[in-house]
Amino acid sequence: MIKLENIHKYYDSQHVLKGIDLDIREGEVVSILGPSGSGKSTLLRCINFLEQPTTGTVELAGKKVDAESAGRSDILALRTATGMVFQQYNLFKNLTVLQNVMVGLTSVKQLKKEQAKETSLEILEKVGLSNRLDHYPAQLSGGQQQRVGIARAMALNPKVLLFDEPTSSLDPELVDGVLATIKSVAEEGKTMLIVTHELQFAREISDRVIFMEDGLIVEEGTPDQLFNHAKKERTKQFLKRSK
Ligand code: ATP
Ligand code: MG
Repeated sequence: MIKLENIHKYYDSQHVLKGIDLDIREGEVVSILGPSGSGKSTLLRCINFLEQPTTGTVELAGKKVDAESAGRSDILALRTATGMVFQQYNLFKNLTVLQNVMVGLTSVKQLKKEQAKETSLEILEKVGLSNRLDHYPAQLSGGQQQRVGIARAMALNPKVLLFDEPTSSLDPELVDGVLATIKSVAEEGKTMLIVTHELQFAREISDRVIFMEDGLIVEEGTPDQLFNHAKKERTKQFLKRSK
């Protein structure tokens, strides 16, 4: 579903990704863990070219794009195949919950209003917001806003959902609701890549866990392999916090 080959990213002279290879199957849920500054967000953003990798290739849903020769239509194809959920929810403040979810369907997918509404209502039901349809973002809790963000990403039915620390700006008591929502999406079989500091959550939800440091994948494996039988001392040290 996603295949990254030898991805390198420089910001000026700073070498942030140092050769990332990654192969993710359809339906797989993969968590990316690692210390601050290790390149997790950059990696996620390189998948849909929100940041253009300096070199390497991204293959997504059968389309292979080389960083050095990517054209507009290649980048558009990667963007269409992915949905991204950010730490900050980036909702439209002047649109209601329902309108925030509908807008991508009517503009990007060019659906008729009625159809966009029907799809949006279904998805908002899934994320538990059927009773907040006419609220504006400012009238919602952070957790509810983030669930609108998730609904909006899901509405376009992308091949892959990318989450960049979806709960890190939330008050602790709101985290569980958002994690439960992400879990229910995972259970529907969506391919997902999740950057998170929630180690326990990563452990529960993931088919595979990746530990990154300093622009490289240090170690990867099933949650059991990484959390209970890590081979590298650095991985053990980092994951110790979850015990
Ligand atoms: P965190 O856990 O704190 O979110 P991260 O693992 O997501 O960290 P990145 O945001 O990918 O780390 O950053 C990796 C490195 O790249 C950092 O040294 C950062 O300063 C640098 N960097 C990230 N974005 C940019 C940018 N737009 N311009 C210049 N340098 C950047
Ligand atoms: Mg980050």
